[in-house]
Amino acid sequence: MADIIQLLPDHVANQIAAGEVVQRPASVVKELLENAIDAGANNIKLIIKDAGKTLVQVIDDGKGMSTTDARLSFERHATSKIRTADDLFKLHTKGFRGEALASIAAIAHVELKTKQEQDEVGTNIEIEGSIVVDQEVVVTPKGTSIAVKNLFFNIPARRNFLKSDAVELRHIIDEFQRVALAHPDIQFSLYNNGSETFNLPVSNYRQRIVNIFGNKTNEKLVPVEEETEVLKISGFVGKPEFAKRTRGEQYFFVNNRFIKSAYLNHAIASAFDGLLKSGTHASYFLNLEVDPQTIDINIHPTKTEIKFDDEHTLYALLRSAVKHSLGQFNIAPVLDFERDNTLDTPYKYNQGVVAVPKVEVDKEFNPFQEEKRSFTSTMSYKKEATAGWESLYQGLDTNNDNIESDFGDVNFEGEASTASIFQKDKAIDNGNSTYQLHNKYIVTTIKSGMLVIDQHRAHQRILYEDFLQHITVKKAVSQQLLFPLELHFSNQETAIINNLKEDLENTGFIFSSISDETVEITGVPVSVPESEVSIILEQLISDIENEVPDSHFSITDLLAKSMAKSLAIKTGQSILKEEQEHLVNKLFACKEPNVSPTNRTTFITLTVDELDKKFI
Ligand code: ADP
Ligand code: MG
Repeated sequence: MADIIQLLPDHVANQIAAGEVVQRPASVVKELLENAIDAGANNIKLIIKDAGKTLVQVIDDGKGMSTTDARLSFERHATSKIRTADDLFKLHTKGFRGEALASIAAIAHVELKTKQEQDEVGTNIEIEGSIVVDQEVVVTPKGTSIAVKNLFFNIPARRNFLKSDAVELRHIIDEFQRVALAHPDIQFSLYNNGSETFNLPVSNYRQRIVNIFGNKTNEKLVPVEEETEVLKISGFVGKPEFAKRTRGEQYFFVNNRFIKSAYLNHAIASAFDGLLKSGTHASYFLNLEVDPQTIDINIHPTKTEIKFDDEHTLYALLRSAVKHSLGQFNIAPVLDFERDNTLDTPYKYNQGVVAVPKVEVDKEFNPFQEEKRSFTSTMSYKKEATAGWESLYQGLDTNNDNIESDFGDVNFEGEASTASIFQKDKAIDNGNSTYQLHNKYIVTTIKSGMLVIDQHRAHQRILYEDFLQHITVKKAVSQQLLFPLELHFSNQETAIINNLKEDLENTGFIFSSISDETVEITGVPVSVPESEVSIILEQLISDIENEVPDSHFSITDLLAKSMAKSLAIKTGQSILKEEQEHLVNKLFACKEPNVSPTNRTTFITLTVDELDKKFI
């Protein structure tokens, strides 16, 4: 048989390699930013168009390249950073594989302009899918500009695989922030579709964090410093009371390189043991400096994972450094009897955060009936009861006695009947018809047998349909706050809220102002306790940022889902009998009672026939 093995042509090999290096526009951002840093730049500008799908450009004032180097830089395994395999163990640069530019040039249109300080003129090279289409002498400032256009133009499958602009932009901003956090000594700016999103001047580490995450971050940071023979730790952890629902602000850098490590993350989490509300995560921005010989960063092509020679020691050191800081700054209780008592003011007071006086809806107030008071004891029911009352006030005489007996069926204004299928066909025995099992399921009888309802999922379904209706059909009733609630977010977070403003207002929020980092709220949906507002918005932002991109769901849908998830009765929560009944009725008044908003089964039935079979 004839020989069949062939060497792949370079451009094919490059395209294949590109699959590993370039997954999305953010990968290009990372590679270009890292090259600029390796080139010794003091000022790096990132320009993005259409979430990087149309353009990713990085302009630096680094050392630039000679004409020959400029041409060579696009060859595979072309690097100025290592010469022998041994060099891998003493890396002080970000790059070393010499693959990035070759890979990027294989799958995009690339324009490079570069000039070294000592040269009069620079070089301009244009490459399309690994083919050099133009090379000329240009007048250009010292440094390098690389523009990557039409990413994946020759791999339509990859291009189609890209997520929505919002998601791709989020990834880009993540990369940008990671790089910027690791290098406060370099000035960075980011322009997105023509407007400046970040401008980060050279500063110290604390200022860099604040410049990225907003002014309010400053008061949240507790410094961590520790130096031992094997390791230097520096940076900040967030005070426990500012812990977030999401893991957003957790940054580890090893020798200025962003890394992910579940193991070291655990070390920090354990230092915070007992200080965090359940379900929240501490923020941290920590730099570890170790001897490059003791780490191996070469185990992952995109280089966010790392192998340490002695992970156990690192774990212990990190944990104790964080614990020590929390103790030293009077955040964790410390056994130090010598301490001045005046320092013992709870740290919350030290922050000078003035608690906003709460406007409480009088939960006990029920114009209709004495015994129904217990109804309002959980948030879930309060919503419906108060919403119902509000609407009743508008049209009805409050003395109307009939309402009392019909209380279980109070309708939302303009809402379709909430009468349950059970009541219609009288299939359910009224009275002692529900039972809560393990604070998780509600069990009730039906004509053919029994019904087991997952309380959390069922309530999500009910709230979801309510919110959707309010957003799309009819504005919900708001609960006015006596004092405006001021919440602080980062720039991008307020941008998300701004985008959703109208939808959020339909659910009952009232915003008096939304500025760069502050959101002021004067009204909230009646279902939302004031203390939960920031958690709900945080969850919402995180859900939007992590939008499941392949779904066709609109942002409205996402909003309704997110709020339903935040507000639904949790598994483990005990519910009063009346509330159980109400939940069952409301569930079966839903358009799609069978599944939760995320398509999970909300209830199952067990017929008498099925039971009979088990007793054979
Ligand atoms: P690596 O960074 O792994 O060496 P790259 O493909 O990213 O590989 O870059 C190849 C080479 O091109 C680098 O080693 C460097 O010499 C040169 N280079 C790339 N970007 C720049 C830049 N912004 N300024 C100066 N030189 C650069
Ligand atoms: Mg590189």
